[in-house]
Amino acid sequence: MSEHRVGEEVAQRLAAVRQSIAEAAEAAGRADPVDLVAVTKTFDADHIRPALEAGQRMVGENRVQEAGGKWPALREEFDGIELHLLGPLQSNKTKDAVELFDVIQSVDREKIANAIAKAADSVGRMPRCLVQVNIGNEPQKAGTLPDETAALVERCRALGLTVDGLMAIPPADHPPGPYFEALTALTAACGLSDTSMGMSGDYREAIAHGARWVRVGSAIFGSRPPIR
Ligand SMILES: *Cc1c(COP(=O)(O)O)cnc(C)c1O
Repeated sequence: MSEHRVGEEVAQRLAAVRQSIAEAAEAAGRADPVDLVAVTKTFDADHIRPALEAGQRMVGENRVQEAGGKWPALREEFDGIELHLLGPLQSNKTKDAVELFDVIQSVDREKIANAIAKAADSVGRMPRCLVQVNIGNEPQKAGTLPDETAALVERCRALGLTVDGLMAIPPADHPPGPYFEALTALTAACGLSDTSMGMSGDYREAIAHGARWVRVGSAIFGSRPPIR
């Protein structure tokens, strides 16, 4: 497909996703904001640019190094980009992450919270954070366990991090509704109000359950090569 054609498709799909977000929010009687984080992982600048030209500003990436390779240049082209880190963060990448990202949605353990606080101190820039929860208590899945979430939120606050809410990815093989509901309840129990939940396949349902941020990739940018 020509570059022009791809750009048109991205712009059209972004408009359709925005429309469907607005409809889901309306159907749920939501008066509070629902924000779209457009997930740009694996796509290059030419593929992403049509979404930015259409006014999209909240964007998400999974890998620090990949994001570092494209967003500094795109930030020169477009004002007001808000870059979210959605993937797991390793301690040795924390300083780069703090320099690059506005929001780190994947704070899932004390060690990383400590590293972010330390890096923020040396860099002189403090991203906002979300605590990632393993809401289905799945083995091997990223995120703090639901039972341990409140303590991690407290620890983050004690370190001076701004915790904006909780993020989760529900188990792949179950209906997501009960997990969205559980995340919303846990968020309130932690004294927070905002959740990041819902992806291309289930963002409407996440909105019905109160999502503040939905993270949508393939429904906007098309299918990705399998995750490396
Ligand atoms: C890739 C990814 C998304 C977007 O997924 P799609 O199904 O393409 O919408 C959202 N959140 C996280 C954490 C991701 O890794």
